[in-house]
Amino acid sequence: MDEAKIAVHEETLDPQDWDAMRSLGHRMIDEMMEYLEGIRDRPTWQSVPDSVKEHLSVPVPTEGQGPEQTYGDFLENVAPYPMGNISPRFWGWVMGTGTPMGVLAELLAATMNPNMGGGDHGAVYVEQQVIDWFKQIFSFPPDASGLLVSGGSMANLVGLAVARATKARFDIRKEGLQNGHAKMVLYASSETHSSVQKAVELMGLGSDALRKIPVSDAYEIDIAALEQAIAADKATGLHPFCIVGNAGTVNTGALDNLTTLADIAVREDMWFHVDGAFGSLAILTDTAPRLKGMDRADSLAFDLHKWLYMPFEAGCVLVRSEEAHRKSFSLTPNYLVHAERGVAAGSTWFSDYGVQLTRGFKALKVWMSIKEQGLDKYARLIQQNIDQASYLASLVEAEPQLELLAPVPLNIVNFRFVAPNRDDTALNTLNNEILLRLQEQGIAVPSSTTLRGKYAIRTAITNHRSRREDFDTLVRETLRLGREIVGK
Ligand SMILES: *Cc1c(COP(=O)(O)O)cnc(C)c1O
Repeated sequence: MDEAKIAVHEETLDPQDWDAMRSLGHRMIDEMMEYLEGIRDRPTWQSVPDSVKEHLSVPVPTEGQGPEQTYGDFLENVAPYPMGNISPRFWGWVMGTGTPMGVLAELLAATMNPNMGGGDHGAVYVEQQVIDWFKQIFSFPPDASGLLVSGGSMANLVGLAVARATKARFDIRKEGLQNGHAKMVLYASSETHSSVQKAVELMGLGSDALRKIPVSDAYEIDIAALEQAIAADKATGLHPFCIVGNAGTVNTGALDNLTTLADIAVREDMWFHVDGAFGSLAILTDTAPRLKGMDRADSLAFDLHKWLYMPFEAGCVLVRSEEAHRKSFSLTPNYLVHAERGVAAGSTWFSDYGVQLTRGFKALKVWMSIKEQGLDKYARLIQQNIDQASYLASLVEAEPQLELLAPVPLNIVNFRFVAPNRDDTALNTLNNEILLRLQEQGIAVPSSTTLRGKYAIRTAITNHRSRREDFDTLVRETLRLGREIVGK
């Protein structure tokens, strides 16, 4: 026995030299804070050189190179090539910027490294607290339930899965969609985010079951067309079970008439889900009246990593009926039985409310950020982004060589450069080239979309670092590039 004790060499991943690890950690924090502090002075984006791509496609290392050299590799080959969304002039897709406190909170969360599937430990109460705050923000009842998830896509999936399980006229968790029941169909505007269709496909309903209802000139769902579609489906024996409303569409930021959608859902005994990925947060601003009816949703999906500027990933889903939510997901095998006492106690097991069992401590960065800044600061920043969108729209409208391509109800501005004697096809090519040069020259990163056949330079402002001067730069440089290309 003594012999065995002497022979065994046991490994650990903890450092041999804690002091060296500690000082490396200090260096990382110093350098990453500098990196963020200087973000305004660097190009918004630059392409990754081939030499770096090569460096990042080598075989798996079997021997470790140690902490210093590993960090050195990061500094040399990864850090210089950010996507750009942490920069003040990034307005592509709908991104978030992150914050210094978010960085530090991620460090703390990884240090504690709790499993947020459930149990009785501090982190669980932090997530519960954060969910309660969002219930308050969105005027959901105190006994509603919620879950932090990776983002809007997962929040939509969870919300729609609850809709499907709750509104099915049979035990869909047991039978699935195999038993020849009436086909379940749901409705959303044609401007609805692709993640809703993905969820519908994943749930086995098939994308045909998602009825894409046309939109008005303001890109809002056409209510009359919706009612006709529901009536037509009912007449042919289908089962309309859910309406998805948009609180801010991804293309233009359009806000559906949520009060009317809520009324129709009640009348037709359908679930009312709202995709409020970013737009729902405008509840904190002067735009709040336009979101009336969102508080009547059966489920609400929203992101924290977009318009609350949290580091990726963080989204949330709220479900009005805790029971419906739990019944859609809860599955408790012997090895997961919740206890009365000990670590496996605790009233909330988040694994009963979603897809994941093991979950990370996303809640900490949310809790710390909101405590650090206060909700009013977020309200002012979101309003600031809305005001910046109006400002950019006014610059576009004042400039004869630019054309605004959609109304600006929220924080998204779609515009294009125009030149005489060019049809839409030519303008589409021209504006695509302008966009690519804006990105490649490191000036700014808008993204693009196509609205009624017209290619748009699309600027979605969910950025706490942007200033008005950045939009002056965008307009000036768009004009410069447009003229340069046309001049050739
Ligand atoms: C971004 C977005 C989503 C998807 O959210 P992720 O966080 O990217 O998963 C869904 N709906 C809308 C309207 C969005 O803007």
